[in-house]
Formats: sequence, structure tokens, C-alpha cells
Amino acid sequence: AALVMREMELRRQIDQDWLTGATSRMAFHDTLEKLVGRMAPPSIGLISFDIDHFKQINDRFGHMAGDRVLIDVVEVCHGVLRDGDVISRMGGEEFAVLLPGATAKSALAVAERLRQAIENSQRPEVDGAVTASFGVTMLDQSDRGLADPLRRSDEALYQSKANGRNRVTCSWAMPAEVKAGENIRRGS
Ligand code: GH3
Ligand code: MG
Ligand code: MG
Repeated sequence: AALVMREMELRRQIDQDWLTGATSRMAFHDTLEKLVGRMAPPSIGLISFDIDHFKQINDRFGHMAGDRVLIDVVEVCHGVLRDGDVISRMGGEEFAVLLPGATAKSALAVAERLRQAIENSQRPEVDGAVTASFGVTMLDQSDRGLADPLRRSDEALYQSKANGRNRVTCSWAMPAEVKAGENIRRGS
């Protein structure tokens, strides 16, 4: 029994980010592979996001406060996401979210809800608001693994950074009906 417990604990350490409890990068890739086997890739959305000016947060309030922000951000996201959605810490202050069964429109809407939830949560430990910049893409039939879609969502994220941060950009040319808000900008 002790051995089984030990094995379960090791498995958890591999599958979860030690700090935030988010899915590890490795388990995120595994999840995607399983999903792609089960459903048509165009119905899977992928969001990348990166906390804005996180280095300043660490510099001003300390590394511990920065860690607290990372934990809080993941908790806030869990409040927005549904069962079956997967949030992963890809490294540092960068995260990715898989949305099985999403449409382009719903994936964009989820990204916007995550953006607002992060911006609106109170953070006394860092004396104000934390924001993040987002990139959204849809998985494509021709995508093999996560590398291609991650490149698209990261490029869109980069656009969000370049256009002033705290906003959502999608990787596709946006039809008029999904131009949902001021903060949504068209990607390249
Ligand atoms: P930008 O808005 O362009 O994303 O600016 P930024 O400051 O967020 O980006 P930058 O890449 O310059 O800094 C990221 C910082 O994240 C630097 C690094 O020390 C910090 N960081 C990475 N991992 C952790 C962590 O686990 N805990 C804490 N507290 N800080 C971390
Ligand atoms: Mg950052
Ligand atoms: Mg970063």
C-alpha cells in the first residue's frame, strides 16, 4: 500500500506544477494527444497568456509575493474555466489553456473572461491589480502536436503585448460577429 501511495505521489509531482497546482507542461502535451485522438481538432481552442510586467511585481514586492500572484491567478482561472478545460503553467509566468469543444467564438469569449477575472481580482499583497496579455487560436486538422498551435497563440499574445498589454488577440482574421469588445484586437 505504501508503495502504491508513493507511486501516486510521484505521478502527481510529474503531472502538476509544484507551485500553482496547474497541469505541468508534460501532462498538458499528453492531454492534447488524447483529445486529438477523440475529437475533430477544429473544435479545440488554445489560449496562451503571460502576466504583464511580472518582473516589476517581483522587484517591488518580492519573490514570495510574486509566487502568491501566480497561485492566485491559477485559482481565478479555475473559477472561470469548466470541467474538461485544462490550464497549464508552461514556465515562469506563462500559461496555456486547452478548451475542448470550443468554437472560435467561445474560445475568444473565454479568453476575455479570464482577462477580466485576473484584472478584477483584488491583490493586497501587490498593492493593486495584476493584468495579463492573451493570444487565442483554434487547433487545425494539419497541426501535429502542440508546437504549431502554440506558435500561433504565442504570436497573437505577442501582438497583445505590443498593442499595450491587458488584452486578447486571436490568430485568425476575425469575422465581425466575434468582435466582442474594445480589448479584442485582430491578430496578424
Ligand atoms: P511582460 O509584460 O513583457 O511580460 O514583462 P514581464 O516583466 O512579465 O516579463 P519578463 O520576462 O521580463 O519577466 C518575467 C519575470 O518572471 C522574471 C522572473 O524572475 C519571474 N518569474 C519566473 N518564474 C517565477 C516564479 O516561479 N516565481 C516568481 N516570483 N517569479 C518568477
Ligand atoms: Mg510577463
Ligand atoms: Mg513571460
